[in-house]
Amino acid sequence: MIESTVYPILQANYSRIQERIASACERSARLPGAVRLVAVTKYADWDWVLGLIRLGQHDLAENRPQNLMDRAEKISAPISWHLIGHLQSNKAKRILSVAKWIHSVDSLKLLGTIDRFASELPFRPQVLLEVNVTGETTKDGFDPVELESSIDTLLGFRHVQIQGLMTMAMASNIPETSRPAFRNLRELRDNLQSKSGGGLQLNELSMGMTGDFEIAIEEGATMVRIGSALFQGLTSADIPTG
Ligand SMILES: *Cc1c(COP(=O)(O)O)cnc(C)c1O
Repeated sequence: MIESTVYPILQANYSRIQERIASACERSARLPGAVRLVAVTKYADWDWVLGLIRLGQHDLAENRPQNLMDRAEKISAPISWHLIGHLQSNKAKRILSVAKWIHSVDSLKLLGTIDRFASELPFRPQVLLEVNVTGETTKDGFDPVELESSIDTLLGFRHVQIQGLMTMAMASNIPETSRPAFRNLRELRDNLQSKSGGGLQLNELSMGMTGDFEIAIEEGATMVRIGSALFQGLTSADIPTG
């Protein structure tokens, strides 16, 4: 049951974000369909998630593998689930058959594990490599230099589709602060792509959240991961579990 007060708020937030995405695309001379909105539901009550689906949103993201699997099990509508948080090897096998996209592959070891499990699957999982472009020690992700020197290793993984890169900019209240990080990610992608001699097809750039998604779009994001802005004005009935 979707509470009657929830739906109109959600609907207003949703269309406002879609408009903002569309204008950022227009400003940066990108096609309106070039950017996929990925709704981050990690702090969302269950009826908010149902409301989003009713609004036509089918790309949903969770940062915890267990939460993603629990929620995926409860929905019968066709959802593309995105995992955006750290994945431990022991959860990798199960998540592969549920998540359509894994944005948070943050080491060669994890990529190797995924590749091994994927060899037994009838499809090639779509993954993005998470890059720590800001160099913050508290963050997961590949070091950009390490990644550039690992192209041969990347090309050796035959059972996964490495579709692109993902990053998080430094936390800030000023959106413009994120621009260098997003630009660096795009340039890193361009370098990897050209160094791979056509072996890698890195079409996706997953970057931009509530505070900076318009800047990310201007810098080439193909997926923006938005949580808070979608649920603004709603009060949770649950205690968030983070
Ligand atoms: C929570 C989260 C988001 C969404 O953040 P908002 O600021 O709420 O839009 C995006 N990406 C990742 C990896 C997250 O964990």
